[in-house]
Amino acid sequence: MKGAFDRVLKAPPRILILGGTAEASQLAERLERRKDLSLISSLAGRLSKPQLPVGPVRVGGFGGVDGLVSYLRSENIRAVVDVTHPFAVTISCNAEDACARLGLPLVKFVRPPWEKTKNDCWHEVADIKRAAEFFKLREARVLLSVGRQEVSSFAFCSCTWFLIRAIEDPQEPLPLHHQVLLKRGPFDLRGELRLLQEYSIDYIVSKNSGGSATYPKIEAARSLGIPVVMIGRPDSHSVSNSKTIDDILSRVDRLVQAESNSV
Ligand code: NAP
Repeated sequence: MKGAFDRVLKAPPRILILGGTAEASQLAERLERRKDLSLISSLAGRLSKPQLPVGPVRVGGFGGVDGLVSYLRSENIRAVVDVTHPFAVTISCNAEDACARLGLPLVKFVRPPWEKTKNDCWHEVADIKRAAEFFKLREARVLLSVGRQEVSSFAFCSCTWFLIRAIEDPQEPLPLHHQVLLKRGPFDLRGELRLLQEYSIDYIVSKNSGGSATYPKIEAARSLGIPVVMIGRPDSHSVSNSKTIDDILSRVDRLVQAESNSV
């Protein structure tokens, strides 16, 4: 009996990665083989064929803050690493609340936003609704690159033609004039230049996601003089952020060390 008790005490701390991003997969890859911790990655389940990170994965919402609190308790999670997308605000706030309630450490990764250069022509807007309003009466050909979930915000833009690029079919209703292009990043500059020219694109609509996987469209727009309607980041929350995977790894190291000192 004592042996079993010791084993429970000495079990490596279990860490939950809130994912759905390339960086979350990179982090899982770098932590997966470690013996001093155990890992589980969580995906929202938005895609029917997601690119799964290595190691154990669970899929689907937790059921709000209460659901997340129950999950963290029942799975004996010792720390949460939030590597969700900078526009995924609800899950990040839920993680913050749930960890505060349980007194669990929370580490948050946030990609730095893209910075406008002097050769960029950005029309910066606060949110997707304002991006859609920009096209209300505008006759233009637009690359709409905002993911599939919020495309319906543009449904009322009946003067505009949209090339809707998404990983899976976007949610209805869709704008009157459109074509759907199903593609998964990363994208490269040469391909983005070709795309913008082939479809005679006048504007790009993009979230300021940051990172390198989708940045080539911004570079291509710069080099062709195409304006970008850039959607700004939603308000971030109060947890102190890491901007690199290496920084996350050293914070995880410190957590694991603190756990092993406390046993
Ligand atoms: P969100 O608005 O912040 O979250 C909505 C709800 O989805 C959450 O309340 C939670 O449901 C569930 N959820 C979100 N992320 C989850 C995760 N990693 N594991 C388990 N449940 C999760 O999120 P979103 O903007 O819809 O994004 C969904 C996922 O796609 C995120 O994981 C994000 O990293 C990824 N993603 C988002 C974007 C974007 O532009 N928003 C772009 C690329 C990737 P419950 O309340 O039921 O727990």
